[in-house]
Formats: sequence, structure tokens, C-alpha cells
Amino acid sequence: LETEFEALKDLPCETKDGKRLSLFVNTGLSADIARSLDRGAEGIGLYRTEVPFMVRDRFPTEAEQEVIYRQQLEGFAPAPVTVRTLDVGGDKALPYFPIKEENPFLGWRGIRVTLDHLEIFMAQIRAMIKASAGLHNLKIMLPMISNVSEVEEAIVLIQRAYDEVLEEGYDVKMPKVGVMIEVPAAVYQVKELAALVDFMSVGSNDLTQYLLAVDRNNPRVADLYHSFHPAVLRALQSIVTEAKDEHVTLSVCGEMAGDPMGAILFMAMGYDVLSMSSTSLPKVKAVIRHITMEQAENMLSEVLNLSRASAVKKTMEGLMRDAN
Ligand code: PEP
Ligand code: MG
Repeated sequence: LETEFEALKDLPCETKDGKRLSLFVNTGLSADIARSLDRGAEGIGLYRTEVPFMVRDRFPTEAEQEVIYRQQLEGFAPAPVTVRTLDVGGDKALPYFPIKEENPFLGWRGIRVTLDHLEIFMAQIRAMIKASAGLHNLKIMLPMISNVSEVEEAIVLIQRAYDEVLEEGYDVKMPKVGVMIEVPAAVYQVKELAALVDFMSVGSNDLTQYLLAVDRNNPRVADLYHSFHPAVLRALQSIVTEAKDEHVTLSVCGEMAGDPMGAILFMAMGYDVLSMSSTSLPKVKAVIRHITMEQAENMLSEVLNLSRASAVKKTMEGLMRDAN
């Protein structure tokens, strides 16, 4: 298996009938860079900035952040690197920035925190833009968007940070800006959001949690957490349909993209980019290279008729066995 994966590295991720898909990596560690490139990652679809923030005992300074982001941008240049602004709150805690709430997943999280703390937001954005000097492969992604006003506010701030850094003499370009679609409200505002940004990336982990009202980390309700729930699948399909005529690139960066069955369904729905942990890259590529787009589309239309997550999984497993 290892040798088969090794041989896959430089082969494109495409179906037997030539449908091309881009595979990106989710990361938060500099140790991942070589491993991801080795496994054929075509870019970073999600760099979780919480990770370098979590391993410290205070906020990293702008200069420290610049060094951290530069490693990723340089490691992948000229391929795109999508850096997400700090997504703390919910399940992601910083020891030096405690947030105590009754309902953390419905509380002060992601963009809500950073727009209330502009010193955190601006230091982070300035560091990202400085780190992209001469490389121009930075994309900035905003987490937990539930209102267009958050995006408008963030874009004004990103533009301001860019103007400042340019003024300071750095060779930079205005980065592409995108949003995560991970709150149900955003699913119903895809068009309005698309009008403001360059790209959108679906966070299927949180989208599943919020659509099904199931805490993604609570073992007591883990049996109810299903990314293959028909309601989740319909939401995921609707995002593509709504975004189709807009000028945005559309990707998925939740765990589901790294599941071969999820990847096939996303491809059939019309997503162009899937981002996943480096360990999932070879197996997803292998599976895509073994089927045709027509088979994938047939699988999707079959499972979209089912009313239970368990039936979706079982049917997909059967169809995948038959396809091979
Ligand atoms: C998601 O919610 O699907 C996602 C990719 O972001 P995170 O898991 O970091 O919340
Ligand atoms: Mg999320």
C-alpha cells in the first residue's frame, strides 16, 4: 500500500473519465509541510492559526506570527496557502485567554472574538500580509461567519492592514479573502456572502454540529453526530447550487472531505477543491482515480433519496464495493 501511495504522489487527482479535483491539506504545524508535499498536497486549504497560539503561554507577537506564517507560505509557494484568522472559543481554548460561558459553541467564538479585539485581529492580519511579501500566495479565511456585516467589517480591516504594510515598504499584494460556511445561516446566504469574497470553504465539522444540534465533542450524543445525515447532505448540495453562478471558488475543509465516501459525494455535488489532513490525501486520491464521474453522480443521486444517515453510509459502502 505504501508503495502504491508513493507512486500516486505526482499523479493528478482525477477520475477515470478525466474529471480533475484539487486536493489541499489542513494543517497547523510546520512539521506537516514536508509530509504534505510528499503526499501530493496542491496547497493549504486550512491553516488553523489556533495551533501555534495554543502551544504558547501568551499571544504571539506580530513579528513572531510573521515567522510562523512565512514558513507555511514559503514551504508551499507558489501554491496557495489559506490562513484562517484565530478561531478560539467553542472547543478551542487558549490557556492565557479564558472564556467562561454556559454555551461556548453558541457564544463568543471565531470572528466574534477577533472583531471585538481589533488588536488581536490587526496584528494577525498584518503578520500574514508581511509574511506573504514577494510570494503573493496568501489567502485569508474568516471562521464562524453568520452575518454579512462581519465580512464587510473584516474586509475593511484587511484592506487597512494591507495599506499599512504596503506603506511600510513590503512587496505585497492584496490577498484573496474568503469565508467558512459552517453556520446554517451562511448556507442560506451563500449568494450575499459570495458577492463580498473570493472563495468559500465549507466547514463540515461545525456545519454538522449546528445543523443537527449535536455537540461535536460530547460522547453522550456522539451517536447522533452524522455528517452523512440527509439534512447535512442537502445543505452541502444547496451550497454548490447557490454558489454556481457566483465568482467564488468553492472548497470543503471539514473531516468529511478526507473520508473517501465523503470526497466522492463532494466531487459529484460539484466541489472543486477538497482539503484534508495529510494522512487522508493518498487514500482519497486513490479512490477518486478508481471511479468515473458518472459513477460518482449516480452514487450521489441514489443516496440523496435516502432518509437516514445509516442508510446513506450503508448504501455508499455497497456502491463503492461494486464500483471496484
Ligand atoms: C470545520 O468546522 O469543519 C472546520 C474545518 O473547522 P474546525 O474543525 O477547525 O472548527
Ligand atoms: Mg469550524
